[in-house]
Amino acid sequence: MIYRVIPVTAFAQNCTIFMCEDTKKAAIIDPGGDVAKIEAALAEMGAVAEKILLTHGHLDHVGGTAELASKHQLPIIGPHKDDGFWIDALAQQVQMFGFAPVEGFAPDQWLNDGDTVQVGNVELNVIHAPGHTPGHVIFYQPEQQLAQVGDVLFNGSIGRTDFPKGNHDDLIHSIREKLFPLGDEVRFIPGHGPESTFGQERRSNPFVSDHRG
Ligand SMILES: [Zn+2]
Ligand SMILES: [Zn+2]
Repeated sequence: MIYRVIPVTAFAQNCTIFMCEDTKKAAIIDPGGDVAKIEAALAEMGAVAEKILLTHGHLDHVGGTAELASKHQLPIIGPHKDDGFWIDALAQQVQMFGFAPVEGFAPDQWLNDGDTVQVGNVELNVIHAPGHTPGHVIFYQPEQQLAQVGDVLFNGSIGRTDFPKGNHDDLIHSIREKLFPLGDEVRFIPGHGPESTFGQERRSNPFVSDHRG
């Protein structure tokens, strides 16, 4: 599997393409906007888009979903149904984030902890990681030890929990009890900013390191 990160929207959200090298089939994770940029990246990779995967319902992660899904006939998969209230409130999110209006959508499939998602011949594990939002999920590829973690964990920081239904304790639990056990060597792409590894965050992230407090 190869991947490409395309920062989209004014929030430089890390839309990520995961492509199976055998089949060229690809999943687009969190198409927050700038659909033309995402399409250009797919074309450069020689990728055939197969599905859209969503980590959570925030507008900077899902704003381009309806457009991309209808143009390319793609199923919309995820996040967990507990983020349904965010997706139902896209119009209010447009106001809150100061975006241009976007088309609403309904996911074709909600995801649960322990589900798997296929991208060509590659299998991704779904892990429910609430805290930033209640229905946040992450996508983990075990053979490559690579994860797309959305707004759960960042290089040197963690997701905000001051939005409706955010929960700081849940977020810390998700990171320390569900993400870190995947292994120190696991590399992750966060929803914003540079990549890191779980080991690096475990050593030095002031919010979740082994030595915090
Ligand atoms: Zn978010
Ligand atoms: Zn975000």
